[in-house]
Amino acid sequence: MNESTILKCENLTKIYGNEDNKTIALDDVSFSVKKGQFVSIIGASGSGKSTLLHLLGGVDKPTSGKVIINNIDIHQLIEDQLAEFRRKEIGIIYQFYNLLPIMNVKENIILPCQLDKRKVDEKELNDLIHVLGLENRIAHLPNQLSGGQQQRVAIARAYAAEPEVLLMDEPFGALDAQTRTQLQTELLETWQREKKTCFFITHDVEEAIILAQTVI
Ligand code: ADP
Ligand code: MG
Repeated sequence: MNESTILKCENLTKIYGNEDNKTIALDDVSFSVKKGQFVSIIGASGSGKSTLLHLLGGVDKPTSGKVIINNIDIHQLIEDQLAEFRRKEIGIIYQFYNLLPIMNVKENIILPCQLDKRKVDEKELNDLIHVLGLENRIAHLPNQLSGGQQQRVAIARAYAAEPEVLLMDEPFGALDAQTRTQLQTELLETWQREKKTCFFITHDVEEAIILAQTVI
């Protein structure tokens, strides 16, 4: 593995179902990504994008092939090790925000760090909250926020845990066009500050090109 390569997948194949009823969702996919890159993955509905993301994030296992992150062959890890690796090194942002309804914005953002008894860098946290325009929403509950604000909280939560790799599955798919454009800008600003390796799934070619240096 090249020194600056952070993630590599080798001959990744995922087949769902059995002989009579099988779907080949991924067929021998290989690529590698350098640390700090912003990569978009585009493809039509059903082309295997979410499947790929789940395998990269260790959420599901490949039928064959490898995912190597930071020199670790993640699907060779035993379950507990993989769970810990996922919590520390992988941030996932979905289309729906998965915020905890009884916790306020700040509590939601720092929750993953607290689960691992890790200290949150308050300055970093405040900068993140500022870039995402959440200063005046910090004590609000999720149901007091718009969809765009809830997704900003989900982005802040993923970044606050300082993962090595961020995986996003059509995160702006449920938002109106204007909010979507704003969030694209804020996401790029956040990426430029932190330079985390980002995978961004979209079916929107324009969005992929606006955001990414590399499009798969
Ligand atoms: P995308 O995210 O690009 O829309 P997916 O990765 O969700 O595509 O799905 C790829 C293919 O795999 C589709 O044909 C889908 O129906 C199938 N698929 C996805 N998840 C499952 C599953 N858990 N069981 C069976 N088939 C699945
Ligand atoms: Mg999908």
